[in-house]
Amino acid sequence: MNRKFLEETNDLQRCLTYCYLKLATLTQAQGYKENDNRLTEKVRDWLEKIPKSLKDDFQVQQICTNNMNYLNEDFDSIINIYRKELQKNEQNNKVCIGEDAFSYIAHLYARNKNRDEEHRWYNLAVQYFQSHGHICKHTVICFCKLAHFYEKYENMIAAMNVYETLIIYLVEHLPCSFLRTSIKPIGMNIVDHFKKQGDNKRALLVLQDLIDLMLIESVNGEREINEQFKKLIGKCMDAACVVANLAYGKYLEVLLRHKSQPFDSYISDIEPAFRQAISIHQTDKNYCKSIEIHQQYIELLINSTINHESIVAAFKRLAYNFETLRLFDVELDMYTYLGKFIIKYQKNDDRVLAGFVIVRCKFIKMSSGVFHDEAQQMFIPLIKFYRNSFEPHAVYSEYFKSRHATLPRHTVSGIYLSLLELCFQYRSEFYQNHMKKNIDDLRNSSVELAAFITTYRVNYKALILEIFKKYGNQPIVHRSSTQFSSNFEAAIINWLSTVENDRTVYRSQVLHSLLEWHSIDDVCLAKCYAQMGDKQRAASLFDTDVYSDPALRFNSNACRRFLQHVYHQASAEERRKLEHRYQQHFLLVCDSFSDDMYFEILPLE
Ligand SMILES: [Zn+2]
Ligand SMILES: [Zn+2]
Repeated sequence: MNRKFLEETNDLQRCLTYCYLKLATLTQAQGYKENDNRLTEKVRDWLEKIPKSLKDDFQVQQICTNNMNYLNEDFDSIINIYRKELQKNEQNNKVCIGEDAFSYIAHLYARNKNRDEEHRWYNLAVQYFQSHGHICKHTVICFCKLAHFYEKYENMIAAMNVYETLIIYLVEHLPCSFLRTSIKPIGMNIVDHFKKQGDNKRALLVLQDLIDLMLIESVNGEREINEQFKKLIGKCMDAACVVANLAYGKYLEVLLRHKSQPFDSYISDIEPAFRQAISIHQTDKNYCKSIEIHQQYIELLINSTINHESIVAAFKRLAYNFETLRLFDVELDMYTYLGKFIIKYQKNDDRVLAGFVIVRCKFIKMSSGVFHDEAQQMFIPLIKFYRNSFEPHAVYSEYFKSRHATLPRHTVSGIYLSLLELCFQYRSEFYQNHMKKNIDDLRNSSVELAAFITTYRVNYKALILEIFKKYGNQPIVHRSSTQFSSNFEAAIINWLSTVENDRTVYRSQVLHSLLEWHSIDDVCLAKCYAQMGDKQRAASLFDTDVYSDPALRFNSNACRRFLQHVYHQASAEERRKLEHRYQQHFLLVCDSFSDDMYFEILPLE
């Protein structure tokens, strides 16, 4: 009975007949299950009534006769009907002759307890296919029925042979597919392994999965094939992870070759990282992990939307994987690959990521001492990229948020703060060039230049006063003379290899840098006002809060810049105060002609 029977007609009588037939089938099944003869009798009753209501329908008559015969266990007459049907179809030169009839006949012989005929008819179906070489909806089921027959009688070798024959048959007769023909030997290799081990049960399971895999349409079927392959491998992980790992390796190569035409450059960027991760797990005989990495790589490969973000996520996942295994040298390798990736694409959006990689690398170096040339070669351009993609305004607000943090500098967050401090000292080249170019261009237009500086400078005052209030009274320590190196590369290497855990040292360094930039900007602005003839306004620019104690303690140049603009505008009394307060920034000069004594502001250091 089929659904079409119902769909083809609006005739209520036929619908009713269909329902009765369906009901009869279900009742019959229930009768067998519960061994209840009353149910069987009910079915018999229906099967007698139904044909009378549709006398002119041969199909219905036939169905009812067959079912009645089945109930009466008169299998021979049903077999005869199906044999005739098969012969008729074959004579009509049909490609598909309804081969499931072979299997059904075999089933009826089984009901007759005729095992030889049962076997013969299951076999006939397979033979029919092999002599005709076509694939229809009955092909797989007919092969499987024969295999199940062998399984039923525990002839596992024969069952496996049938499945293997089916696989060969499918590869031969399905439309040609690179993936199918390439994956088949990989699967068969696993099957052979289990056969050699005498584990026929598992060999059969793998064969069945392999058949499902062979049946997947490989046009755009990569994902489905991959799911099926994972399922297949899942069946052998616990028993044969070495073999499973080997299979994954070959499977990966197949996919790579399959993909090779429009091969994404992103994929080739990340390939070495995956290759290394896999080989490390294999060397450690950690095959489960190796398979996991294979899977991650393959999932990326078959992903239809490979983009910057997904590649970055994959890199991070690889690195994290080795972090949890505490394999820090490999973790560093993974970040080295990621760092190179960031440098290659120079995307401004990657700035935060670059900061993360920088901090992580320094942390690894500090906590495990690992850092090799390759990492160092990546590290310098990465920090350069970071510095240049980080606007001083943004550095300022980022740092301002955590200005009260008293984190020790060997922690990850502490390293991050020290990185921001490095960015105070070495502000973005783009920013500096932009400032310089505009100052040059607007040289002759003081009003515009003043407006430009006022809006574009970073006003460090609040931060200077904050830090000074908290740390200004502690003794000043300047440790390293190379700390204000004009060579950024040297500064990077110095930053990478040192951890300054003395709070007063790094606070005084920060104050020094902030005062330096702040006073330079003030001077620039003051010059504009002076040029406009407003020397008073120029002098009043210099905030006395900033240029008193903070500048006096932390930056001599700031004091001297301040004095250069304020001292000469001041009244005699104010001058005396300044001379007294900023005495270490003055030189007492004696005029040899007049014997007059006067103060001169010392030049910048
Ligand atoms: Zn068929
Ligand atoms: Zn394992």
